[in-house]
Amino acid sequence: MYIKESKQTYDAIVIGSGITGGWAVKEFCEKGFKTLLIERGRVVEHRKDYVGEGKPPWEQTLRSKVPRAEVEQQYHIQKNCYAFNDSTKHFFGNDKDLPFGTAKGTDFWWIRANQLGGKSLLWHRFSYRWSDFDFNANKLDGYGNDWPIRYQDLVRWYSYVERHVGICGQKESLPQLPDSEFLPPFDMTAPELYIKQQLEAAFPDRKLIHGRQAHLTKPSTHHLAQGRGQCQARNECQKGCSFGAYFSTQSSTLPDAAKTGNLHIAPNSVVHSLIYDAISNRVKGVRVIDNDDLSQREYFGKVVFLCASTLGSTQILLNSRNKAFPNGLANRSGVLGHYLMDHNYNAWARAEIPGFEDSFYSGRRPGGLYIPNFYFKPDPKRPFLRGYGMSAGAYREDWKALQHKDGIGVAFKQRLQKPGKWQFWLGAQGEMLPRFENSVQLHAFKKDKWGIPQLEINCRFSENERLMMLDAAEQGQAMLEKIGLENVSSGLHDKPPGSGIHELGTARMGKDPKDSVLNGFNQSHDIPNLFVTDGASFCSSAVQNPSLTFMALTVRAVDYAAKEIAARRI
Ligand SMILES: Cc1cc2nc3c(=O)[nH]c(=O)nc-3n(C[C@H](O)[C@H](O)[C@H](O)COP(=O)(O)OP(=O)(O)OC[C@H]3O[C@@H](n4cnc5c(N)ncnc54)[C@H](O)[C@@H]3O)c2cc1C
Ligand code: SF4
Repeated sequence: MYIKESKQTYDAIVIGSGITGGWAVKEFCEKGFKTLLIERGRVVEHRKDYVGEGKPPWEQTLRSKVPRAEVEQQYHIQKNCYAFNDSTKHFFGNDKDLPFGTAKGTDFWWIRANQLGGKSLLWHRFSYRWSDFDFNANKLDGYGNDWPIRYQDLVRWYSYVERHVGICGQKESLPQLPDSEFLPPFDMTAPELYIKQQLEAAFPDRKLIHGRQAHLTKPSTHHLAQGRGQCQARNECQKGCSFGAYFSTQSSTLPDAAKTGNLHIAPNSVVHSLIYDAISNRVKGVRVIDNDDLSQREYFGKVVFLCASTLGSTQILLNSRNKAFPNGLANRSGVLGHYLMDHNYNAWARAEIPGFEDSFYSGRRPGGLYIPNFYFKPDPKRPFLRGYGMSAGAYREDWKALQHKDGIGVAFKQRLQKPGKWQFWLGAQGEMLPRFENSVQLHAFKKDKWGIPQLEINCRFSENERLMMLDAAEQGQAMLEKIGLENVSSGLHDKPPGSGIHELGTARMGKDPKDSVLNGFNQSHDIPNLFVTDGASFCSSAVQNPSLTFMALTVRAVDYAAKEIAARRI
């Protein structure tokens, strides 16, 4: 299955093996396409290569911390990710080898996972459908271009991927957050159930619901046939999960693709650029640099899917400029690299929950609760556009806090046995407006070690996002006070774009080739056999975590491409 050189012309080439690339190869292979998956990083084998799995902190030299010198030399950006530690660091990109610039006065945390499986190994698995309020948002307030699709275009594809992935959650029939095909949710604790009741009574426009996550709480026969098993609620996911109980490329899409016998994988192959044939106006192949020895090679295919993550895909397109496309391949519109977005997680609120001292939880639920966006309907009186969702959850204070405090001996151990008061927290996840000036371009002369021009990122949150986060902190405080929680506090962080790890935009879809790179099927307006199905294709960010929508768009695009190929239009 793994190859290095190949003279074959593949039916399909997929670049990148993360969440979107995994789905693209599964779908192509199952349709009988001879498919090449090109991945810049090393092979990570399911189970065998989860080297941090099952290792408790006390068996690690620094109790799961990464030595400071190593962090500063190799992970000065990746260290900002909450999931970065000694048991997961091998799944993060090495910043030393992955230089990029930021415009003066701006910052961007570009979190990367450059190996087979990409960020599918590291993600937190929150999976929410988008609604028509999201697909209509740009049209209604004029920020960004109108999405060329609506919820109805995706609904069948959401269901298709959800049945395969396995999403736990509960039906709520909310207009702003359509229900998925659910497996049972994780339980709420007693104080969470109490807060749900109080909050929904005090704020009839708001709901506190189960987080929806790609976890097999009750695997179906379809999931068991994938070799996956039930989630054990141990919250060790980002070390890799040998049960395959959360969805990743390794646990789910890649095995299915491999089973068909149609898959070849070229690992350690850093895509430098796409090979364009001006006579046929087609991409005919891919130029790669070997990750290890820096030699060059080429692969050829009839259709190319870019799934290298939002900024990875756009970097490849920008670096594939040629005479016909001097500003980047498939960039006749001039918007390639523009309208970069993320989510804004900069507001929080917290409080003590009185009572419930004799209520405990066992196990470690790998996710929390969610307050869906209650500002989903536009309101001209609100001082900002769009809205935010909120993550939430309750925990026992000392069980959590003592993890991060120094201590030794009998007294400390006794303290550890006391769980402390119940606490409740809220964290906002705000929409970011698509703005032309938030953009990426190639540096004129700085290159990485593979000879690829570095990305220069110019991205900042706007006044709209600042006002939105102020509101989220105020609303958080007001909600927790009104339902009678104690010692309520709230505040703001100052994390830059990128910190949400939901990069979106830069090769957006649209109806009009003059203001968009892709059509409503993620196909380049300019070059028919070129598709981009990751977050680069997004026209707006909504408030929901985006990866479920990436998956739905990817399978829909493969279905479309296959039909276009059969009709000889590609
Ligand atoms: C800690 C964490 C928590 C997250 N939680 C959530 C969540 O709860 N819900 C959610 O929806 N999203 C979440 N995300 C984001 C989610 O992981 C990404 O949106 C998703 O993985 C993106 O999928 P992708 O296929 O576009 O890119 P990736 O999964 O990043 O995969 C891209 C692949 O392309 C490869 N590649 C890049 N450039 C090249 C090149 N030049 N040549 C060859 N290969 C290349 C990379 O090595 C990588 O394997 C989280 C991310 C992190 C890190
Ligand atoms: S919580 Fe579930 S998905 Fe996460 S590591 Fe444990 S068994 Fe795997």
